[in-house]
Amino acid sequence: MQNISLKHYTNAELLAGIQILVSQERTLSLKVIAFLREIRLRSLHLEMGYSSLFTFCIEELKYSEAAAYYRINTLDIVDELPEIKQDIETGELSMTTLSMVQSACKAKKRKTKIKVSTEDKMSLLEKVKGKSKKQTEAILHQHFPELQTTPKPESEKKLSDDLIGVFFNADPELMKKFKEIKDMTAHQNPSPSYQELFHMMSDFMLDRIDPIRKAQRITRRQKRKKEERKGEKTDLEKTSDHEDSLLQPAEVKSNVQNPPKTQSRHCSAQAERAVWARAQSRCEHVDEKTGHRCDETRRLQLDHVIPYAISQDSSEKNIELVCTQHNLYRASQWFGSEFMKEKMGSSPGI
Ligand SMILES: [Zn+2]
Repeated sequence: MQNISLKHYTNAELLAGIQILVSQERTLSLKVIAFLREIRLRSLHLEMGYSSLFTFCIEELKYSEAAAYYRINTLDIVDELPEIKQDIETGELSMTTLSMVQSACKAKKRKTKIKVSTEDKMSLLEKVKGKSKKQTEAILHQHFPELQTTPKPESEKKLSDDLIGVFFNADPELMKKFKEIKDMTAHQNPSPSYQELFHMMSDFMLDRIDPIRKAQRITRRQKRKKEERKGEKTDLEKTSDHEDSLLQPAEVKSNVQNPPKTQSRHCSAQAERAVWARAQSRCEHVDEKTGHRCDETRRLQLDHVIPYAISQDSSEKNIELVCTQHNLYRASQWFGSEFMKEKMGSSPGI
């Protein structure tokens, strides 16, 4: 960055200069919003291996989480009310203010299932024009009294390399469930800390829903049963035993009757487990140009690399684990962008 010496500027020149720069900064911010809008419309962030525009802003554009959030909230509100652009340019409405209004409207919708109307939003924006963050907060509290009881936001804070402080809100029903779990497991640990309790509950849950853990559990169980069966077999039976097979008799019979591969658009449980293990429970979409792989680990689903209607192939090699956004993006690449628009609705979100 070029060093600029301002020592020779008079005070008047400095004050006039900063006004011009701030005005240019606002104009530039609007251009950034316009670019983000077009990138979202073209799904370029998805093509590049980002599951959301928010992730794209943070990882590709190096914005902080707050800065990315402000910009995307501003993009959404400008999309709905394009006439506010001039208020952004004049500084009457800042991205912080707009983001606060947009967040409050979203919170209202989440809480009451009622969308704030465009007219209501516009009248709210009129009220917060030129107001400070604190004044805007007060206006929003007054406008949305139902949100005043909104609990403190959940948060995570790194306390040391191996300790993270987590804050969340619990209702009485959840506290009752915690107590029941503590009581029922008291023989293992009479007084577990919340950390121990969450470890226990997480392991219990993951053993049931994580395909990799499930596969490991099934393999362990099959090995154990095989060992048990081997112990019961006569020497004659032992000679017909196949050392490498972990399948139970019923599964072998089933496989003979329904040979795997390409018989159905649904892949076999074995292939599904292999895909989850290969993907390490993370979206497998990769940008071919840069090699960037999507980081998403939530709402993953199995996707045919070449659609089943074309490939008739549901084997492991034609299946990838992808996030919802990339599943829709890939579908739009095969079946057209209208398909994606219909699936995503008019508001693609962040
Ligand atoms: Zn993805």
